[in-house]
This record gives sequence, structure tokens and C-alpha cells, in this order.
Amino acid sequence: MRHIAIIGSGPAGYYTAEAAQKQWGDEVRVDVFDRLPVPYGLIRTGVAPDHQSIKAVSNRYEKTALSDNVGFVGNVSVGSDVTIAELQGLYDAVVLATGAPHDRPLGLPGETLGNVFGSAAFVGWYNGHPQFADLAPDLSGETAVVIGMGNVALDVARILAKTREEFAGSDIVAHALDALERSNIRRVVILGRRGPHQIMMTPKELGELGHLQRAAPRVDPADLPEIGEDALLEPGLRKSVNHIRSFAAIPESHRADMALEVEFDFFAAPKALLGERMVEAVEVERTTVEAGRAVGTGETYTIPASLVVACIGYQTSPIEGVPFDERAGRFANDEGRILPGLYCVGWARRGPSGTIGTNRPDGFGVIEKIAEDIGGGSGKQGRGGFDRLAAERSLDVVTFRDWKKIEEAETRAAREGAPREKFVDVAEMIKARGG
Ligand code: NAP
Repeated sequence: MRHIAIIGSGPAGYYTAEAAQKQWGDEVRVDVFDRLPVPYGLIRTGVAPDHQSIKAVSNRYEKTALSDNVGFVGNVSVGSDVTIAELQGLYDAVVLATGAPHDRPLGLPGETLGNVFGSAAFVGWYNGHPQFADLAPDLSGETAVVIGMGNVALDVARILAKTREEFAGSDIVAHALDALERSNIRRVVILGRRGPHQIMMTPKELGELGHLQRAAPRVDPADLPEIGEDALLEPGLRKSVNHIRSFAAIPESHRADMALEVEFDFFAAPKALLGERMVEAVEVERTTVEAGRAVGTGETYTIPASLVVACIGYQTSPIEGVPFDERAGRFANDEGRILPGLYCVGWARRGPSGTIGTNRPDGFGVIEKIAEDIGGGSGKQGRGGFDRLAAERSLDVVTFRDWKKIEEAETRAAREGAPREKFVDVAEMIKARGG
């Protein structure tokens, strides 16, 4: 028998569990750990609440989780409740699938002013992550600046722009829905330090911005490259650039009917966040793109801003004793191998890129390496040993069966048409599990 501990119950974690089952059938025991009492990581607290079709992938993870040889060990923090070294003593392989839950810092003056957030915090707020549920962003001003031109920037801009009605069928948490309904934001500026040909936004997600109830996108036609240059782009990016071109062609008369505008500010690198206590403006330097790189022109201007959300990418949290690649913001690894018996997968292995589905081949890849390394297993104790240790330390382990009770309570609490109302507080989650 082989015993495998997977740390993190998001997509990378559950695809790895699925791969282990495919590899060894009944000859493996897998335990999926999470510091929260609820599973699915990024699917629950990262994927936008109005993208329910993407969130539906958790049904696939549930199928894996319900298998007899796969356990969920929720409400256990690896690193504090139990160490990596202890888990390595109990399991043949420990796989870090911890994602990249922290914001990369902007590194700009004024970053610590009030109402300046990273996307992990802001997305966590509207998605009900217990760590960020009480963020309470101030939405009373008129202009929000969203930094970065990736899909997360698009998510944030769209969420700020939507009406309450447009959130029907989503699982946006009540505190965010109510705050957004009261929001005074009328202008969302998306800042990109490079141009339309360098955006990281994908076509489907960008297309959504053209169909909002009370908001229209704005693109300055002067920022568009010569149309012939689009032919050199890979097809996905070309489609995205087509959307940008169509936004530039929206007539002013259409925008005049809209309460809110989502403006793309290309060739605009943030230089400083200005304000006394709360952010009041963003200082920006115009850029040109040379050989794909943004180069400052020295020309600067300021955009008034009462809210700033930096959507510039994420990094993995280091764990004591585990080699970490500071520059890349992920664990130092060779195709998933960190140290003997210790592996990483998903964003913790390759950094925050790709789609949810990219994690599937990643999971299968790391299991292949583990299979090469551990053979038939070395008689470790696995879950039995962990349960003894958990009892000694009085850890309150939440099982998958417990999670199903929490889920039932969330489903019962859903407002009409919504799939669930999430608990945003760990103690509430534990209470909902019952005795
Ligand atoms: P991303 O795609 O890497 O985009 C980050 C953006 O931030 C880029 O435009 C980058 O510009 C900009 N940036 C980085 N550092 C900056 C700085 N110091 N100043 C100004 N701009 C800066 O990251 P993401 O949006 O966080 O997304 C992470 C991953 O999740 C991506 O693979 C994304 O596709 C995926 N995702 C997918 C969906 C979906 O499919 N619906 C939704 C959300 C996220 P440069 O290019 O110039 O560096």
C-alpha cells in the first residue's frame, strides 16, 4: 500500500488525487489536506461567482473525494498544526498543491494607503474567503483603478460594473452583493503597462464586458496597432484583440445611455499611489513597447482613484524548511520534485498561469514521478498515524462527510435562484457541521 498526502484541496490537489487513483486503483490511500474546513480552493474562492459553469468542475472533484481510498482532512494547517516533516514520516509522498494565495506586491510608493488591495484580497472578499470576508472596501468614490490586463483584472472590473440583477444565479456572498449595490463607482480604469497586443485576457472573458447591463467598455482608437499586425498573433490573442477593436468602435451615443464605464488605459505604467490616508489618485507614466517590453517615456499624469485593486499576479506561501524560488514566487522544484518524498503541483509548482484544466496534466505528471520514486510503498502508517497525531493534539479535523453537511446548510441558506450562500467564517462552518 502507498500513502500519499496532498496539501491543498483545489484543482491541483484533486486532479493529483484522481491521477493517483488511476495509477494505483485500490493500492493507494490519498489524504487531501486543507487549512479551511471546506474544499476546492480556487474553485470556491478564486473563480468569479458569476462563472458558475467553471465552478461546476467541483462535481468532478467530488467524485474523487467520495472514493473509499480518498480522504479529506479539513481545518488542518500544514506548517502549524502538523509539520511537513511529520507528514513525511507518515506518508510515502507529500504533494504541495497549495496554489498561489498571496498577492505579489506592486512595490510602489503609497501601496499601503487605505482602499488599495491586491486581487487575492479583493476577490477573496466578494467570494467569501474567511481571511478576507471583512475587507470592507470603500465603494463610495467614483473611480476605481484596476492594475493589470489579465483575466483577474477583467473579473474585478466586471464585478464592480454589474447590477444586482446581473448577479442572479451567482454565488456572490451577501455582504459583497449588498455593498456593490450601494456602490458609487461610475468609472473603472484598467491600467496596462503595455498595449493591446500584450494583454493576457482571454476572448470569452473579454467578450462578456461588451454585454453588461449598465456599463460599456471604452478603448481609445489611437491605442490600436495597425490592423495588419494582428495577423501575426496567435489565434486566441487575435480574438481578444478583435474584442478590443470592437470596444473602440462603440459609438458615444451607446455609452451615453450607460451609468458606468470600463476604460482601458494602455501604455500606462503605475508609478505611485497618492493620498493622505486613503488612496486619492494613481500617478501613471506613459510607455511605449520596445521588443515586447514597456519602456517609460517620462510623460506622467494622474488618475483620480478612490479604490485601487492590483491584479498583477500571485505567489505561493513559503513553508519553513521547503526550498523556495523567491523570484518566481513558487517552490524550487525539478518537474514537481522538491526533495526526496516531497513534491509540488499546480500553481505551487509552475506559478500562477494557465486555466483550471492545465492542472490536470500537472497532477498526472507528478504522480508519474512519484510512481518512479516510491515503488510499492515502504510500510508507512498513513491516515491511521495521522489520526493518532491529530487526537494527541486535539485537532478538530473536518471530514468530507462533515463538508457535505456544511454544504447542505449553505444550499439551504441560498437566496432565490442562487446555488448557495457561503459561510464566510470558519467558526460558522464548524458549527454547521453539527455535533
Ligand atoms: P496574468 O494573466 O499573469 O496577468 C497579470 C497582468 O498584470 C498582466 O497584464 C501584467 O502585465 C500585469 N502586471 C504584472 N506586474 C505588473 C506591474 N508591476 N505593474 C503593472 N502591471 C503589471 O495574471 P492574473 O490575471 O492574475 O491571472 C492568473 C491566471 O489565472 C492566468 O492564467 C489567468 O488566465 C487565470 N484566470 C483565468 C480566468 C478565466 O479563465 N475565466 C479567470 C481568472 C484568472 P505584463 O504582461 O506587462 O507583465
